[in-house]
Amino acid sequence: MSPHQKNEITSLLGIITTSALIGALFNQTLLFIALALFTYIVFMLRNAFKLQDWLEQKKDLPDAWGYWGEIFNELHLLERKKKKQQKLLSVALSRFKKAAEALPDGVVILSQHNFIEWVNPVASSLLGINYPQDTGQKINNLIRHPDFQHYLLKNNFSKTMTFPAPENADNTLTMQIIPFGYKQKMLFCRDITHISKLEEMRTNFVSNVSHEMRSPLTVLSGYLEMFSDKPPKDEKNFKLAIDNMYQQAIRMQRLVTDLLALSKMETAPVEHTALVDVSTLLIALKENAEVLGQNKQHIITMKADEKLNLRGNNDELHSLFSNLINNAVRYTPKHGHITISWQILNDEAVFSVSDDGPGIASQHIPHLTERFYRADVDRSRESGGTGLGLAIVKYAVERHDGRLEIRSTLGKGSTFTCYFPNQRFSS
Ligand code: ADP
Repeated sequence: MSPHQKNEITSLLGIITTSALIGALFNQTLLFIALALFTYIVFMLRNAFKLQDWLEQKKDLPDAWGYWGEIFNELHLLERKKKKQQKLLSVALSRFKKAAEALPDGVVILSQHNFIEWVNPVASSLLGINYPQDTGQKINNLIRHPDFQHYLLKNNFSKTMTFPAPENADNTLTMQIIPFGYKQKMLFCRDITHISKLEEMRTNFVSNVSHEMRSPLTVLSGYLEMFSDKPPKDEKNFKLAIDNMYQQAIRMQRLVTDLLALSKMETAPVEHTALVDVSTLLIALKENAEVLGQNKQHIITMKADEKLNLRGNNDELHSLFSNLINNAVRYTPKHGHITISWQILNDEAVFSVSDDGPGIASQHIPHLTERFYRADVDRSRESGGTGLGLAIVKYAVERHDGRLEIRSTLGKGSTFTCYFPNQRFSS
């Protein structure tokens, strides 16, 4: 029993004893005790009602003396403590909300039975939840993808799950639920579209390279197997076989060279401080082009500004210009026209190669700079193409702060133009 309780019992006994003594003086002991107890009960009831009013938040905490005064005092202290804690809690909560709102990932707070309690803006847009309108809705009524429903019902959240974004099925989301507090859940989600696209590109790339390597290797191993079974006697056939093997080896070599060039540009830092004499480079490339296309008797014309030099990497620019010029030679039929130009136009250094070859259908144009993309597979392979030339061109142009433009009309010809900004050239 607490001291206050002991005091109260002592006071009650005192009241009873005093009233009994006074009652005895008037020979009315029981009446006086009854009156005193009645007054005591009224006092108790009055304070009990005050307490009830306060509990129902109708009134402020009342004042009282004695035992009730102590009770009200304790309650007063408790109330102050609670208000202080509430204030701290609301500061912590608003800090948490601010942090969660700034997160690059989506966050949703769910109650025990998966009702939405809070959503940050990223989760709103990724999951298509309207916050605060959708507060109190069950999350599985809003995200209806079967994989998500299964994940939520399974109640085993140790792993992440991926599923198509509800707002845009082309995008991929990854999600993990983390239980916290009293059976509450925190749902984290992230847009991993670019990662899954990269993964897809990597898989495609490996399968494309394997495919490109397989055909020349099959030819080579076929001949070698044939020769090991039966050494060739006819010199003419032997020469034909050797020529063919040589062509296949060259094809593989070209593929490896292009792959290395691409990977170097992907990984090496941009170090473009040297001034490259583009017109001299183009004269050499034009001569190479004439040798490459000697059977086709193209009419190649070139107009290059001798004073116009480009700040950049000599090897990358060589690769860029030669890929475009050689493509024109490879794809333009006999007696076709090829025009090479290097000049300043509208404050930009502009390199362009035009031909009156077969042209390219418009649906292929946006894809031409993708690795191994070919508008005409047979023609590319026949002319020794690797399918990587324009990917290299795009990389090299971008590493020189430039842009590539492809214009082509089927049956009429193509023009490939590279634009380089002012800070890249001197004239
Ligand atoms: P490839 O080694 O196959 O030539 P590229 O990346 O250099 O690879 O070119 C991609 C595709 O673009 C080619 O397969 C070809 O279909 C098309 N192409 C490129 N240049 C020309 C051009 N001058 N004329 C017509 N088609 C072209």
